[in-house]
Amino acid sequence: MAEGHSPVLLVHGGAWAIPDDMAEAHVNGVRLALAAGWKVLERGGSSVDAVEAAIVVMEDDEAFDAGRGSFLTSDGRVQLDALLMDGATLRAGGVGCVERIRNPIRAARLVLDESPHVYLVAEGAERFAQEHGLPLCANEELVIEREVERLREVREQAAGRPPEFFAEHDTVGAVALDSRGKVAAATSTGGTLNKTPGRVGDSSLIGCGCYADNESAAVSTTGWGEPIMKLVLAKWAADRVQEGMAPEAAAGMAIERLETRLAGHGGIILLDARGRHGLAHNTPRMAWALKSAHGEWAGIKRPGP
Ligand code: ASP
Repeated sequence: MAEGHSPVLLVHGGAWAIPDDMAEAHVNGVRLALAAGWKVLERGGSSVDAVEAAIVVMEDDEAFDAGRGSFLTSDGRVQLDALLMDGATLRAGGVGCVERIRNPIRAARLVLDESPHVYLVAEGAERFAQEHGLPLCANEELVIEREVERLREVREQAAGRPPEFFAEHDTVGAVALDSRGKVAAATSTGGTLNKTPGRVGDSSLIGCGCYADNESAAVSTTGWGEPIMKLVLAKWAADRVQEGMAPEAAAGMAIERLETRLAGHGGIILLDARGRHGLAHNTPRMAWALKSAHGEWAGIKRPGP
């Protein structure tokens, strides 16, 4: 292992009542993502590269609401959001509402590396990604039959009601600490099922669904995006760590705040530059995987002691 720090990688694959028949796919998915990210850290690579590698694996995995296989908008399209943030420099790259990019986290990385801006959306983001070597695809290539059926069902049930509350949250996220002692965070999502076209959720917004600062923590959230956004939840949790709270306590407090202040639901992962991590959710299950010098864990954690 290169240099002085002992790397840590923590990934999640959404927080909701993951049914038993989907549990294995979720645990396998986060395990594979962990392996890909760890490969980068193991050879002395950066935390930014590690979280990107982990997210790409989950975007390519149809079990999750990211990349191909994501939830559909109310008009049956895939619209993706992603953010990547470097905790050492506070450089960040985000994309929102992209429809023709298989791996939006790669586009977010290009924004971080190659753009003077932090956030690009829709066609402009796609054009930028293409100009920087990322091939575009047709939106239909990202749509799968399972999601067409799921949209049909939810639209029948939700007829006449506003598309504001959905209980399934398969967004993916990763936080890493590399051997140079630098943290990074990334989050990628297809958003919420039956969302209004053009809706942007918390996942790709700095400080809401993702945040990283070496002075506080790297954070990724999942869950019902609107309450998470209103509370700027990832930054709120990172601030608690900066004030001296342990990441585990900050994670718990953030989810408690989400629930008590706005009746929100979801999950959060945190990692600080000392390698201390935290995870909390108020949903029945959360898919996650963790690797450090102390070992490797993966599972669908239930809340409570
Ligand atoms: N937070 C995401 C959003 O609202 C959804 C999720 O976590 O699955 O777009």
